Amino acid sequence: MKTSFAGRRLHHEATARIRRFLDHEQPGTPCLVIDLPTVRDRFTAIRDALPGAGIFYAVKANPTPEVVGLLAAEGASFDVASPQEIDLCLARGAAPAVISYSNPIKKARDVAYAHERGVRLFVSDSEHDVRTVARHAPGSAVMLRIVVDSKGSTYPFGKKFGCAPEMAADLLRLAADLGLAPLGVAFHAGSQQLDPHGWDAAIADAAAITLKLRAEGLDLTTVNLGGGLPAGYLDPLPPLAEYAAAITASVSRHFGDFRPRVMVEPGRAVVAESGVLRSEVVLVARKSYADERRWVFLDIGRYGGLAETEGEAIAYPLRTSRDGAPLDDGPTGPVVIAGPTCDADDVLYQDTCYHLPLDLRAGDHVDLLCAGAYTASYSSVAFNGFEPLATYCVR
Ligand SMILES: *Cc1c(COP(=O)(O)O)cnc(C)c1O
Repeated sequence: MKTSFAGRRLHHEATARIRRFLDHEQPGTPCLVIDLPTVRDRFTAIRDALPGAGIFYAVKANPTPEVVGLLAAEGASFDVASPQEIDLCLARGAAPAVISYSNPIKKARDVAYAHERGVRLFVSDSEHDVRTVARHAPGSAVMLRIVVDSKGSTYPFGKKFGCAPEMAADLLRLAADLGLAPLGVAFHAGSQQLDPHGWDAAIADAAAITLKLRAEGLDLTTVNLGGGLPAGYLDPLPPLAEYAAAITASVSRHFGDFRPRVMVEPGRAVVAESGVLRSEVVLVARKSYADERRWVFLDIGRYGGLAETEGEAIAYPLRTSRDGAPLDDGPTGPVVIAGPTCDADDVLYQDTCYHLPLDLRAGDHVDLLCAGAYTASYSSVAFNGFEPLATYCVR
């Protein structure tokens, strides 16, 4: 049974820092508070777990300027998808040489803009895009993204991105013919990939293409393992070291004597655990005398930034202002949790069985933990007039 108390997942000090900020500043809700030391800690943990790998932070997970600036100062590289994300990284101190334009779906003028700003690494998955890069970012390095089976992940990428391995090989040959520098194969094994071996099949495909093309004389040097490293929500996870060990073993097994340079593009795993999203209870209601479940309406929902509750894919740990001490919780009961807008889909959890305090009422706070990834960046401009999610950083 999932209960409302899971604060132990966040570092003790991080929780204390965020609490101090919330108690002292009393910011309007909903709001997201990012603990910058936790971002630094997660980034360095990934870097230490994968020594020698290029760590390209996927900016879309949380584009807060302070987060990008902190990571740039720590020596991170960046995975971007648009001119706006390029400008953000450059403005926050990243050099163009550490930016990868990893979105295979891009306009010619955006490629030209990236090139003009000094970006020299692109990921493609189609002939048209390879030709676009060759034309508007001449001489750049290019990686070809392959489609992979991302079972084991909470968010499989399906067939939208990547092409078949044999097509990727042809497009790498084409890239060389067009004067680009073919660098290697890229993929994404699905976001919140829970299986430490979830990268293995794709690494095997990438190695097969790489070794074949190297034998033909193309100087492929790199494999881009994409994102997918998971964050700890309600359910326990294997430790990061287990993912790193499985990935490293797959790379050596499939690439054999050739040691490729490794790139990873973590988003969620860098920022999720740094964030607490504070919301206020708008209404607690019963829908019938027969149904024991109360409906708890928060001032944040699907459109205010909780897009990842769609299909209840991500279940955030919750903590309320009525929770007792960890071992001394008061009585709780089952709830449905919903957002504040007039949209029927704006229900966060009805199948995930959350239990919240029986005395919870309008005006109380409900904190969503582990909410630093894919929240503020998903919040709508003003659906039903609700403002976009505000982000604060503590250090
Ligand atoms: C979104 C994205 C990532 C980050 O994925 P996470 O699952 O958050 O680590 C990495 N690479 C690409 C190309 C992406 O689109």
